[in-house]
Amino acid sequence: MKHATIVKPGKRFRLGAVDPSDDAGLSDKAEARAILAADLERLRVLQHMLYADNRYALLVVLQAMDTGGKDGTIRHVMSGLNPAGCAVTSFKVPSEEERDHDYLWRIHQAVPARGMIGVFNRSHYEDVLVVRVHKMVPADVWKRRYRQINEFERMLDENGVKILKFFLHISKKEQAKRLRDRIRDKSKNWKFSEGDLRERRLWGRYQDAFQDALRRCSTPWAPWHVVPADRKWVRDALVARAMVRALERLDLRYPKPKTDLSSIVIR
Ligand code: ATP
Ligand code: MG
Repeated sequence: MKHATIVKPGKRFRLGAVDPSDDAGLSDKAEARAILAADLERLRVLQHMLYADNRYALLVVLQAMDTGGKDGTIRHVMSGLNPAGCAVTSFKVPSEEERDHDYLWRIHQAVPARGMIGVFNRSHYEDVLVVRVHKMVPADVWKRRYRQINEFERMLDENGVKILKFFLHISKKEQAKRLRDRIRDKSKNWKFSEGDLRERRLWGRYQDAFQDALRRCSTPWAPWHVVPADRKWVRDALVARAMVRALERLDLRYPKPKTDLSSIVIR
């Protein structure tokens, strides 16, 4: 299996160069699900070590166009984890209290504690995406945010929070299919919102905003991964593998016992 594309820091990157329907070299769904199952097993062990080691936290950021599969990824990839060591935060339209603070205020509060895995369903990137597309703040305000975000993420990294960012990349055609599905399938009706159709008309502007965010904010300390997401099984396998690799790089270890256990006899 190939890995998700990592956007190279400081290089020109074109979103159009990544095919949303790429299969990452996986032959079919069955193979992808088998690889995912094996990686979830590794993730379980790594999560346990992350918790015991207690030096690092892992922050997984998920961004996508509507219907891009953030919820599905969380269901499939995080389902293997111990819920006690895991927290998912969904960022919606900011509340009045949130709007009275800087845009990173609510984000910082949700950053996982040491030993924990935190997942962001949407994130501070909304503040250079939806906010830019809908001109909610002047251009000079959102343009400054790329630098602010990089500095914020660097500070987190230096304090033990390892950040992995995933853009779940779907095609416009696949989005149409998924939106139709939300209308056709009674069990998915609740997910349908007319707002999604309004956003769909702004597809091109969102792609531009995503491309800039990926270019400007993929850093050595918090890289952006572009995940082909038209096929859900490819998406899930790539996200899980990137998480395994990130945790393996941390050289996690179980802390040494505080006393010499060899002399202890329990009667
Ligand atoms: P999702 O679409 O993430 O699965 P949902 O459909 O349950 O979630 P929505 O309320 O439709 O919930 O999605 C969250 C909305 O909040 C999105 O339209 C998103 O653009 C918006 N949002 C998130 N963060 C911000 C922000 N900082 N400023 C403005 N809007 C934001
Ligand atoms: Mg939605």
